[in-house]
Amino acid sequence: MSDESKSIHEFDFSLICEYFSSIERQGPGSPEVTMKALSFVDHLTNDFRIADIGCGTGGQTMVLAQHMPGQIIGIDLFPEFISLFNTHAANLNFQDRVKGVVGSMDNLPFRDEEFDLIWSEGAIYNIGFERGLNEWRKFLKVGGYIAVSEASWFTDERPAEIDAFWKDAYPGIDTIPNKVAQMQKAGYIPVASFILPENCWTENFYVPQVKAQSDFLKKYAGNKTAEEFVANERHEAQLYSAYKDFYGYVFYIGKKI
Ligand code: SAH
Repeated sequence: MSDESKSIHEFDFSLICEYFSSIERQGPGSPEVTMKALSFVDHLTNDFRIADIGCGTGGQTMVLAQHMPGQIIGIDLFPEFISLFNTHAANLNFQDRVKGVVGSMDNLPFRDEEFDLIWSEGAIYNIGFERGLNEWRKFLKVGGYIAVSEASWFTDERPAEIDAFWKDAYPGIDTIPNKVAQMQKAGYIPVASFILPENCWTENFYVPQVKAQSDFLKKYAGNKTAEEFVANERHEAQLYSAYKDFYGYVFYIGKKI
């Protein structure tokens, strides 16, 4: 790769980071959904250790910290997100028990059986659901829980346009029974799975992006990368509104056995 293309690539990344840093969440979700998923985890104690993988700027992590004791480590690939994460933790006075670190989910800096709970909202797709469940299992104590949200099909068949979109964006998307079977095969009891309500996509994800998009386009007027990026995000939001009966995010909660 030439130096020139490398710098363009880096610019893309920093643009995307800037865009997503301006909104509270980097994926569909809500505090209510985080709490609902947490309700399936038994015996939360003061010594609980939690990893939040692909934590972004920490929207869901701070909800967890507000509702449970214990130590939380958030990990994300992007230093800009981790810096905001640590600012949010400090603003809420959680700095002694909530810490963000930069790192990659395919090479986690954790010890075997270090955690009671692994959390990951809208992020495991970066290495794939099955691979993540299999590789992260060793970091959990026996009897520990994993809770991840993941794009899933609601039906066995669906219109060609949305099928093609997801096969390109994330070929790992699958039906709920298939995902549950993958979780069981990876060595977890499938404790629960539930579909995230629509407001997680609309009010909490696509609506805040409308303002972010117009600010962003004003700031980067004439910048092709920024324009294409916003066009993609808008296309995704339109697809969701047209095809939301066929797919969505599902929370999967498992217990290591
Ligand atoms: N959990 C947050 C963010 C979801 S977006 C929320 O629900 O709001 C997906 C996140 O995964 C982004 O923050 C992105 O930076 C992070 N990510 C992407 N690839 C990663 C990797 N290899 N390791 C760790 N984090 C990664």
